[in-house]
Amino acid sequence: MNEGNDTIAIVGAGFSGAVIGRELAEAGYNVEIFESRSHIAGNCHTERDSETGVMVHKYGPHIFHTANEEVWSYINKYTEMVPYKNRVKAVYDGDVYSLPINLHTINQFFGKTLSPKEAKTWIESKADLSIEAPETFEEQALRFVGKELYEAFFKGYTQKQWGLHPSELPASILKRLPVRFNYDDNYFNHPYQGMPKNGYTEIVAKILDHKNIKVHLETSFAPEARKNYRHTFWSGPLDAFFNYQHGRLGYRTLDFKRSVEEGDAQGNAVINYTEEKVPFTRITEHKHFAPWEEHDKSVIYHEYSRLCEEGDIPYYPIRLTGEIEMLKTYEESAAAIQDVSFVGRLGTYRYLDMDITIAEALEAAKVFLNNSKKN
Ligand code: UDP
Repeated sequence: MNEGNDTIAIVGAGFSGAVIGRELAEAGYNVEIFESRSHIAGNCHTERDSETGVMVHKYGPHIFHTANEEVWSYINKYTEMVPYKNRVKAVYDGDVYSLPINLHTINQFFGKTLSPKEAKTWIESKADLSIEAPETFEEQALRFVGKELYEAFFKGYTQKQWGLHPSELPASILKRLPVRFNYDDNYFNHPYQGMPKNGYTEIVAKILDHKNIKVHLETSFAPEARKNYRHTFWSGPLDAFFNYQHGRLGYRTLDFKRSVEEGDAQGNAVINYTEEKVPFTRITEHKHFAPWEEHDKSVIYHEYSRLCEEGDIPYYPIRLTGEIEMLKTYEESAAAIQDVSFVGRLGTYRYLDMDITIAEALEAAKVFLNNSKKN
């Protein structure tokens, strides 16, 4: 904490920065937020497509889901959340399947009409039970769904998404996805799921709408500038703060190819293409995220994943073993700096969903306010 200065600097106007800023502003602090892009809301940013009028998720599909009641009521204070279930389809070898892997997927894939119990036994007969404690993505898949489903739905998609063989990736990535022995095709398990009626950017704008908060767009913040502020919350890339002195933490970035069609292009918001030979990972048809709206035209995004290079927007932290080592070094450097808190997906180099980001931001603000009370 830099005594004598009363203003708080926040770097990044995504959910982390906005939520922390609002909590501190309400506690009486003046808050200045520095955002290098020309818009708020980070990678959750939504805007109306000028040609079709459709609300698009500019940085790929974001579906809000949580089990955290506090986060759910927080977000509902700032917007109307319309109930929304994400039902993803997968195209593989000329067929359309239901995701996440459920009884429909299993029966269709194996040409069967198994009951839940029979399907469990069937999948167990396919699973590699010799893998006791799966560590890699591949082991996790072979252990829980077996070789055939792994190769059809996970192997190619994951290779495209991460640029690595699933045997090089941690099991935690696959643990995000459920496998179900019933016909429930809801992509998420959480009790609260929805889509903001007017997009995510409106929520962030409302969170930021407070007399003590000033937002500077298209303004980068040099780490040295923190001396002018009481405290700094950094939600930018952790390695960038330290000028990459221990090396670059790897990220995947995404490219989107936009196109416009008449009417309904694919009949669903998200369709994954799980084969490696198809160059894109998925197609998102944004108007299906807002089924309460009507649009004659439709805008679709083909999504391509590649290694993030200098100047690209970082999306997914890769977190290979070497990077986790590098991360530790950065974390040690960060721990030695008293007047900066590192927050969010980029500030902590973790694959965070929106609800976790909000929960952690509320917690970071609480910790700061408690500590400043104690001085
Ligand atoms: N995944 C896959 N096939 C799919 C969907 C997902 O192999 O059809 C894997 C892939 O490695 C992905 C991970 O599961 O990175 C998590 O999927 P999720 O849908 O949560 O990814 P996100 O929407 O966050 O990109």
